Amino acid sequence: MAPMSPVLQATYFDGQSALARPVTLRIVGADLHICQAHGSLVVPVRQVRWPERTRHGQRMADLPDGGMLQCADLAAWDAWCNAAGLREPRLVVLQQSWRWVLATVLTLVLVLGAIYRWGLPMVAHAVVAQTPHTVDEAIGDSALHALDKALMEPSTLASQQQDAIRAAFANALSVLPPDDVPRWNVQFRKSSIGPNALALPGGTILMTDDMVSLVDGDTEVLTAVLAHELGHVKHRHGLRMLVQVSALGTMTSLLLGDFSTALATLPALVGQAHYSRQAEREADAHALQVLRTAGIPPKAMVTLFARLEARRHSAPAPVPRDAAGEEAEQRAAKAMAWLGIAFASHPADAERIAFFSGNAP
Ligand SMILES: [Zn+2]
Repeated sequence: MAPMSPVLQATYFDGQSALARPVTLRIVGADLHICQAHGSLVVPVRQVRWPERTRHGQRMADLPDGGMLQCADLAAWDAWCNAAGLREPRLVVLQQSWRWVLATVLTLVLVLGAIYRWGLPMVAHAVVAQTPHTVDEAIGDSALHALDKALMEPSTLASQQQDAIRAAFANALSVLPPDDVPRWNVQFRKSSIGPNALALPGGTILMTDDMVSLVDGDTEVLTAVLAHELGHVKHRHGLRMLVQVSALGTMTSLLLGDFSTALATLPALVGQAHYSRQAEREADAHALQVLRTAGIPPKAMVTLFARLEARRHSAPAPVPRDAAGEEAEQRAAKAMAWLGIAFASHPADAERIAFFSGNAP
């Protein structure tokens, strides 16, 4: 004969009235028997919402028909649950330990941190590897259009000088294995952003007239700048950065089914983001490789850093406070947003100077 199932004294509310009825609880097979003075109620155990085990308060179980069981004797309730084989979910037991909660929170923070630090760049790398180059070009084209509208004017450099700079760069690249050289296209612009250069996804590299005049048209120095920018193109940093920056936004858009908005904001994101320190190192490494292979002293880059630094310390002319001044200020603010990926926003630090001074391994 099976051993007698344990019983528990509890209080029953039928969910209709506030009347508290004393009952006896017993588990028989898969059912909970709620025995009252005038008959008994049978409810499948699985349909009862058993309470989580808290350290305080009453034990209350909800019944499927809106009724409720209550027991103020916590020890008796827990002993009955154990004896009746009503195991609590392990999670509930674990939740009672603050050490466990703390460990869980810390683990979550570490996992999220790792995803942000390593996972996102890895995912971006993988996504970019699977993305056709035509996507880079399309984004680069619309970014160029936006830049031209907001910040750029046609170059005033003589076309012979533009060609000479392109030819010097092409000549430096000609000794590299062809597979190491992505498609590129150097364009010159007059711009309020000062001496600068930036690479857009797809291979368009913009160089400002001011950059050329800053180094008196020295093609070796300009080749160093262009080789750095081409490093960004080669490693597809623009698209990688976009994938990372827009990962959350794009995921949201996909969930909401509003993908066109995500696409429309990409060119703006190009302007608002900046390359990571790692991306800058990769671009510098590419520049160093080009310079060494072409027989150009890498110190050409250090010369440029020094000129940019000197230029930075010469105060710009004050802008008059009128309508034209305000427009100029707005343009400058827009320019600042675009400078994140531009050459002059990450000028010389000790590490980069050492790198191009021949102290790098
Ligand atoms: Zn860069």
